[in-house]
Amino acid sequence: MAYDNNNIFAKILRGEIPAKKIYEDDFAVAFHDISPQAPSHILVIPKGAYESMDDFTAGASPEEIAGLFRALGNVARQEKLDETGYRVISNCGINGGQEVPHLHLHLLGGRRLGRMVQPAA
Ligand code: 5GP
Repeated sequence: MAYDNNNIFAKILRGEIPAKKIYEDDFAVAFHDISPQAPSHILVIPKGAYESMDDFTAGASPEEIAGLFRALGNVARQEKLDETGYRVISNCGINGGQEVPHLHLHLLGGRRLGRMVQPAA
């Protein structure tokens, strides 16, 4: 599937819609999730046009892959989440429940997060 240039995170990257941005480097941007599921809920996204983790791991350069994960660690430490721990989630495709078609890492912390996966409904 072709990358959709009009997805909401592409618009945030281009500065067309606002976001509470807390970090940026050559490879990634991080901002607060609009609907936080934990006291700290940050989205870390690559600057490149990648739809999902599948797309990214198949097509991104080693520098882009390293850059995204370095950024994730930098953000976690910047926000002091390393001190008490955190969770990283990336939803991919239909079964993953992905809603926005630009790869994003959810960085969650600030409280004990409980079970990793809820039982099926
Ligand atoms: P997904 O379900 O695709 O893994 O997660 C998408 C996330 O993006 C959700 O947690 C949702 O709250 C967040 N989100 C959706 N629209 C916006 C927006 O316009 N701004 C921000 N900051 N977050 C958004």
